[in-house]
Amino acid sequence: MTVPPTPPLPPVVAWSTPLRTRFRGLDVRDGLLVRGEAGWAEFSPFWEYDDAESAAWLRAAREAAHLGWPAPVRSSVPVNVTVPATDPQRAHGIVLASDGCRTAKVKVAQRGPDGRVEPVDHELARLEAVRDALGPGGRIRVDANGAWTLDEALHRIPLLDRAAGGLEYVEQPCASVPELAAVRRAVSVPVAADESIRRAEDPFEVLRAEAADVVVLKVQPLGGVRACLDLAEQVGLPVVVSSALESSVGLAAGLALAAALPDLPYACGLATSQLLAHDVVDEPLLPVGGEIAVRRPEPSTRALARAVADPATGARWTARYERVGALLDGAAA
Ligand SMILES: [Mg+2]
Repeated sequence: MTVPPTPPLPPVVAWSTPLRTRFRGLDVRDGLLVRGEAGWAEFSPFWEYDDAESAAWLRAAREAAHLGWPAPVRSSVPVNVTVPATDPQRAHGIVLASDGCRTAKVKVAQRGPDGRVEPVDHELARLEAVRDALGPGGRIRVDANGAWTLDEALHRIPLLDRAAGGLEYVEQPCASVPELAAVRRAVSVPVAADESIRRAEDPFEVLRAEAADVVVLKVQPLGGVRACLDLAEQVGLPVVVSSALESSVGLAAGLALAAALPDLPYACGLATSQLLAHDVVDEPLLPVGGEIAVRRPEPSTRALARAVADPATGARWTARYERVGALLDGAAA
């Protein structure tokens, strides 16, 4: 019996998949894959981002498709397991199932539909469960996504630090740079800036205000691997590379950045393919022994059979891709 040849993928493909766990308020993640002479690229700004904010994401995709990435200086990248704002039992299980990750990033400061932040004892129980699963040698960081008020941050961080048996850092405890600076002056736990870098008009405000000890860089929202390498050099603080919940095609760009940074003192947030019910490649970028090997997987017809977007979603993506492209080309002209 002969196996029929698989048809080649078109050069632009929209994908969509349910998430295994609700994350960042999302149940579904989708995006566009684009093939260029340097390989496959991903364009997947979240839907709440307008065309102007999505332009950086398209610059990152164009770099991946047409230019490729600088050479790596390491062959694998240590990664963290991500624990959503969930109950202690589930948090424990997620860490145990993480394939040897020695760093856990725990989401905190979840706000309910009524706008109230989750009770501190929930956060403490989650951190105790994560420490129990990780053992004494593992590292724990928390990410508040800017959702605490300054008072909440100052009250909770020392409690969380104790419950975790020591926090590696607290990521974006509050929304504004002055608040980050105030947290950093008041607590002994190091502060990492994420949203204050990637969604800021001026990422250097964090530096001038001495508001962070660590910066989180994400390739798509910051306009590509080279843009991130330049930013890292100018900022001069330790860098953690994180994903924007991409498919493995997009994650490969984050991996390329982490692999090209001169120093990589922290585990990166790139083990997020696990959150997708279906990836677009046959062998997703997953950690083995807490590290992801540096490579660039290609999408496959077989994997996309389960992850291809429906025609209406595909049409929305191609329209967005063309609009943002026109915006970028207009700006360049
Ligand atoms: Mg973050």
